[in-house]
Amino acid sequence: MALTLYKKKRSFKDTPEPVGGKASGTGLRFVIQKHDATRLHYDFRLEMEGVLKSWAVPKGPSLNPEDKRLAMMVEDHPYDYRTFEGIIPEGNYGAGTVIVWDEGTYEALEGGNKKEQEKTLLQQLKKGSLKFKMNGKKLKGEFALVKLKNAENNAWLLIKHRDKYAKESDITKKDKSVVSGKTIQAIEKTSKNIWGSSPRKNLLQKNPVSNELKKKRPRAKVKRPRSQKL
Ligand code: MN
Repeated sequence: MALTLYKKKRSFKDTPEPVGGKASGTGLRFVIQKHDATRLHYDFRLEMEGVLKSWAVPKGPSLNPEDKRLAMMVEDHPYDYRTFEGIIPEGNYGAGTVIVWDEGTYEALEGGNKKEQEKTLLQQLKKGSLKFKMNGKKLKGEFALVKLKNAENNAWLLIKHRDKYAKESDITKKDKSVVSGKTIQAIEKTSKNIWGSSPRKNLLQKNPVSNELKKKRPRAKVKRPRSQKL
């Protein structure tokens, strides 16, 4: 299964990171998470076959076609990871702060419905040359991800194509989350309110289904002494 490596690297009782998730909606989604870990980098993630194909981009994306940004392909991440913003606790893989730096949909240049686009993109991924159009809040227009030959296996380049969205100004200067409007530093400072010291507990509070289960528990306890009396 595609998420084996992702799960192997993490202990889910110690981190609020998502375990899985199912893709929905008509468009293919992308997310770019700014991640202040051992080294600051941007995680560039594209939805494909229900998971997020992922690259770590040390310098972050650029809208300047002259820039070729190194992108190291990493393990697939679960679809639900795209909304993750918060703290990965110390002692866990990738420990540090994460914000959703950009998000939106993306599409194959060849068009077609979601399934057809996915097929095209997976073929391109296999060949090491992905071309797509991004409809994000910060990143727009055509981009390419090209696998480097004769380099390390997982080294790719992220390049902006020349179109009306190409710009010379540094897009990474827009450093706030497109979800919360907060910078990495602000999330780091307020993170106790988001995840707290018990991530699993916070995950339950954030998940309405788990909250339902939690509410039912005391009721079951009340019933037990009554049945003992019978
Ligand atoms: Mn990362």
